[in-house]
Amino acid sequence: MTVPVRGKAVVLPRSKPFMPDFVFFEPKALDYELGDTLYRKFRDMEIPIKITPSHNRVTGIPGDTPAQAYRNAKNTLVVGIKKSMDLETSKPSADYSLPPATGCMGHCHYCYLQTTMGRKPYIRVYVNIDEILATAEKYMERRAPQITTFEAACSSDPVGVEHLTGSLKKMINFFGRQQLGRLRFVTKYAHVDSLLDAQHSKHTRFRFSVNSEYVIKNFEPGTSYFHERVEAAGKVARAGYPLGFIVAPIMIYEGWEKGYRELFQRLAGVLVPEAKQDLTFELIQHRFTATAKKVILERYPKTKLDMDETKRKYKWGKYGRGKWVYPDEQAQLLKDTISDLIATYFPEAKIEYFT
Ligand code: SF4
Repeated sequence: MTVPVRGKAVVLPRSKPFMPDFVFFEPKALDYELGDTLYRKFRDMEIPIKITPSHNRVTGIPGDTPAQAYRNAKNTLVVGIKKSMDLETSKPSADYSLPPATGCMGHCHYCYLQTTMGRKPYIRVYVNIDEILATAEKYMERRAPQITTFEAACSSDPVGVEHLTGSLKKMINFFGRQQLGRLRFVTKYAHVDSLLDAQHSKHTRFRFSVNSEYVIKNFEPGTSYFHERVEAAGKVARAGYPLGFIVAPIMIYEGWEKGYRELFQRLAGVLVPEAKQDLTFELIQHRFTATAKKVILERYPKTKLDMDETKRKYKWGKYGRGKWVYPDEQAQLLKDTISDLIATYFPEAKIEYFT
């Protein structure tokens, strides 16, 4: 992709699809076609491979400091099988979570996986995708004739590993054939080409997590660039998928209004008119917990992320655990500003929530 700068065409940078530095295999994964294919692939690429009895027993990821060990773990892939077929609920996004993977190669400073995945931030892909889909089928049967929705991105960014597994395409094709099932997921990755010809039958909502260029540049290393995501959203819209955007985390910084205006302007410029008629937005303001702040400062000590409690309001949550959000007046300003931008550029879109 090129853009004109002072009359000259400038080539914009491209993010590379993820490739692990270390790979672990659970022995049972090798009994599945995908497990076997991945094993041969990484072996031929001479990527170090180890067999581990279970992902819980992965050991030997190098790193002299916690930050280094974390970085190496984020470059580690565990190929295994999903054992539990009890699907967790996934409200408000969907009825159930249906993950083809867990963990993520991105380094978003604020990411919730930093606390939910604790000291095991490696990426796991599940090779028993047919069994996972058979489980989804059972859940759909139980709820028939109601439609059941499944979220594929609760604990990972499934597009980030799609070039390795092809599992998401399989899921999209599967839900394309279902009368009573719908799939949704969200991504910060722009490597979507292999998904454009999937037989989705409009049963999958393809969402992009987007933000102002400032936020993406400063807080989302290891993900696709702003211009790539905008371009990918245009492709997905042209492929006829129902489209959505999660704008998160929405932040206040110097020039934020201009930054978000530019985001919506750019998105409006790439979406075909049909996509604008069935478009959803989910809006999430930046928040942090005391635990998250501690972990973030340990892993990204130079982060510019504003986590100054004196500028925030404490919002109590369930079980006595709360988080720091923007004070009411600022939260309202964020909500009104972003909602106005959406009304201007996407008058037919639906805002699902602001939180
Ligand atoms: Fe977390 Fe999403 Fe960033 Fe991955 S892309 S690190 S899941 S916020």
